Amino acid sequence: MAVFKPENVEDLYEIGEVLGSGHFGQVRQVRERASGKCWAGKFLKIRKNSCSRLGLDRSSVEQEVEILQAVQHPNIVILKDVFESRAEVVLILELVSGGELFDFIAQKDNLLESEAIEFMKQILQGLSFMHSKNIAHFDLKPENVMLSDNVSPHPNIKLIDFGLAHLFHQGEEYRSTSGTPQYIAPEVINNEPLSTAADMWSIGVNTYILLSGLSPFQGDTNEDTLKNVIAMNYEFHAQYFSTTSSMAKDFIQKLLVKNPNERMTAEECLLHPWIKPITRKQVANRNRSSINMKSFKKFNARRKWKMSYNMVWMCNRLVHLKLLHKGSSSTDPDPLQRQCESDTEDTEIKPASLLRRRLSSSS
Ligand code: ATP
Repeated sequence: MAVFKPENVEDLYEIGEVLGSGHFGQVRQVRERASGKCWAGKFLKIRKNSCSRLGLDRSSVEQEVEILQAVQHPNIVILKDVFESRAEVVLILELVSGGELFDFIAQKDNLLESEAIEFMKQILQGLSFMHSKNIAHFDLKPENVMLSDNVSPHPNIKLIDFGLAHLFHQGEEYRSTSGTPQYIAPEVINNEPLSTAADMWSIGVNTYILLSGLSPFQGDTNEDTLKNVIAMNYEFHAQYFSTTSSMAKDFIQKLLVKNPNERMTAEECLLHPWIKPITRKQVANRNRSSINMKSFKKFNARRKWKMSYNMVWMCNRLVHLKLLHKGSSSTDPDPLQRQCESDTEDTEIKPASLLRRRLSSSS
């Protein structure tokens, strides 16, 4: 069981600029007073009591901490320390200063598949390690794939945000309907028992986007997206995949498989010829093929726009909620939580079960 230190974090760390925001708090740069070293402090608001409508259950944070402690790997963010006050838990994490992988790639004029694969390999190595410990991430999307730094020509991948991750115990049947519609596997939507294979579906979606700049199942609304996933409604549009190798398409096809047991595992991915070519022809194919940069840049710009739109929308909602808080009934559903996975531009009503975030739905 992780130790949550009762000290005031500000006695030991100087709190600096905001690095990012999540649904339950902010991530800020912090400087350790003793060593002068910089870290990332993830400040998570804790629900004060069961009637309280804002914040996370402490047990959910305990789970995130337990998992972070179990996944010490060069491609996974390191957890250094945990502090707890009355209303907040602060995770002191390795500072990942290279930004998101997708932003790094979007700055380039062109990128060969062989160069993109170097990043994919590291993502798969991190995942393979997690999966070997029976831990699934369950939220693999571009926002959670970061780079160690922005100075070296070949920065390392760091997987972040273990807020939805789960450690499977022997014989356990686990279900959860949390996630982000564009990236979630059919078994998540169908509320079926889950396994680490759900992450491999997300790897298939992320790879498809990386190569083409298209999101394979994206519909006009979240409901449409979910329907497309269930129907396995995707194809390789010739005009977007004209520079893609057949090995890359084969790699994706072996991940976007409805039956989780038939999907490639992370270990198998690392041995797929697209990742680990054996013949000279395979090596040449990767060096000849490139990602569709024009379309990818468009996808990324749109993604960033949606993220900032959602953040403004959430902040407004939070302020509104706080103002209304006193007058509302405790049995009302929490509108903030219901909208947490707003990955579309619009804010229409979505299936509540799929939009909940960190609400326990395990069995
Ligand atoms: P969400 O609710 O969106 O899942 P969250 O509350 O779980 O978010 P994270 O996703 O872990 O929080 O972090 C939010 C953002 O803060 C990230 O998208 C990233 O930009 C930034 N961030 C998180 N961890 C780090 C880190 N270790 N170093 C630098 N920046 C970080």
